[in-house]
Amino acid sequence: MSTQTIPDRLTKQNPLTQYPQPPFPRQPQSRPGDIHKMDPEPDHGEESYVGTGRLQGRKALITGGDSGIGRAAAIAYAREGADVAINYLPSEEQNAREVIKLIQDAGQKAVAIPGDISQESFCQQLVEGAVAELGGLDILVNNAGRQTSQQSILDLTTEQFDNTFKVNVYALFWITKAALPHLEPGATIINTASVQSYDPSESLLDYAQTKACIVSFTKSLAQQVAEKGIRVNAVAPGPFWTALQPSGGQPQEKVQQFGASTALKRPGQPVECSPLYVLLASQESSYITGEVMGITGGTMPY
Ligand code: NAD
Ligand code: MG
Repeated sequence: MSTQTIPDRLTKQNPLTQYPQPPFPRQPQSRPGDIHKMDPEPDHGEESYVGTGRLQGRKALITGGDSGIGRAAAIAYAREGADVAINYLPSEEQNAREVIKLIQDAGQKAVAIPGDISQESFCQQLVEGAVAELGGLDILVNNAGRQTSQQSILDLTTEQFDNTFKVNVYALFWITKAALPHLEPGATIINTASVQSYDPSESLLDYAQTKACIVSFTKSLAQQVAEKGIRVNAVAPGPFWTALQPSGGQPQEKVQQFGASTALKRPGQPVECSPLYVLLASQESSYITGEVMGITGGTMPY
């Protein structure tokens, strides 16, 4: 690779000042959130991720692929040579269309499958649709998630508790179960957990529990499917600058200071997750399974 093709984000520089730092403006928006309503807009690698063919010929399904960490993974996977199907909520069509175009611009096949993964029947249709359109499946990224902060357990409704578990835990079970019969040796499953899995915040009582479930699910399943040559890992991000946070994931005061309590004193940008999702999807991680890999900026609970 010539030096001209190395993006700025890979030049040697101070990670403290590489990306925007708090304080950020107040920016309430409704769930599930739109990246273009964020100030500053997150970096998902649109201009800055350069691939090296590490996923050539692979077929990937990514939930929550329209925005945030899933969008960054989708862009990176396509530029590494994979065909990519993304799932998202119908209301996120605009963000999703941009990702579809970015995948196509990378010369790869892009498949859009909108729908609500809190329904088991849709989860089955999602996997069947992705397998049919892609012609198989090698990489499953269970990344969609719901997070709604509540100061007190007394404010946490059964409806919220149930929906958080449906999206973050049940859907992961349903989608993985539907996908497994299609996976061959060399396939990988990557689940998005969180620092909340083991360092839960007071206002994320339901969400943090679901993220602990994801760690446990990842470790059990990795043991179960190792004999099939399938690897299963989780990524546990700290505070990342995504639409999840200003759309109800955090109170606005915390959005304004988002990332300030990490050692690097800023939130991560979605593109900073991309190398880890690529590593875990690719054969470079051939001896890594059942692991939970942190990417936290040296985080403290947020
Ligand atoms: P995001 O809002 O950009 O992505 C989450 C996506 O989940 C949404 O785009 C939406 O498409 C999807 N989703 C939510 N409910 C759904 C439903 N019922 N059906 C289908 N899709 C649904 O935010 P993100 O931060 O990139 O989140 C991705 C993952 O990262 C989530 O699992 C989240 O818990 C996890 N995570 C985020 C952070 C952070 O600070 N941003 C930290 C740790 C973990
Ligand atoms: Mg979204």
